[in-house]
Amino acid sequence: MTVSGIGMTSQRARARMLERLKEQGIKDPVVLAAMNAVPRHPFLEESIQQRAYDDTPLPIGQGQTISSPYTVARSCELVFRGQTLDRVLEIGGGCGYQAAVLSKLAKEVLSLERIAKLVGRARLTLRELRINNVLIKNVDGTLGYRSAAPFDAIVVAAVMPYIPEELKLQLKPGGRLVAPVGAGESQRLIVVEAEPEGGFKERELEAVKFVPLLSGVS
Ligand code: SAH
Repeated sequence: MTVSGIGMTSQRARARMLERLKEQGIKDPVVLAAMNAVPRHPFLEESIQQRAYDDTPLPIGQGQTISSPYTVARSCELVFRGQTLDRVLEIGGGCGYQAAVLSKLAKEVLSLERIAKLVGRARLTLRELRINNVLIKNVDGTLGYRSAAPFDAIVVAAVMPYIPEELKLQLKPGGRLVAPVGAGESQRLIVVEAEPEGGFKERELEAVKFVPLLSGVS
């Protein structure tokens, strides 16, 4: 994997990706700037880097996939509220791409990934890109990370059967969580907002397709 690997082609491809994201309805200028700032090809094996800016999930090894650019931008837009977030939790770090995008929207990103091989590779790529405000931990993230809570935002990148109460409780008042909920072909994106006076407001959004959340580390 190389950062400069596909050179100018990737800059043009990234510009096209940005145009497509706008056509698909991504509006937040800060989220679009973050998508523009982070190259996507260094997170992929060289053999598929030329497809890095296509609007599609791609394999990252270990049977896992990097989410499509639209999915990443959409999740970011749903938790971002115009101001730099203080602390963000990502569950399902994979290759580290979404964590890298989140790193442009937040002071600190904590990303949890259960597969050690992916953690190792993600750390290398982030270092290569000089992204220093992402910490990746090789743990089962199903119940979040209580000792680092509360978070301004929690982004879940693998489908859960339901959102555990324990996760919601790790949000700051006013904070937002976005997660795919369901199973198999029947999944929807859910946004939970922690209300300042206590309690949670939930919104069910579009149908989505994510890999499953699994338990344990490997
Ligand atoms: N955001 C990632 C998407 C990766 S796909 C990216 O940008 O590449 C979802 C990831 O969730 C997979 O890597 C999978 O191993 C991980 N995952 C699944 N269950 C998990 C769990 N309980 N805890 C932490 N990570 C989990």
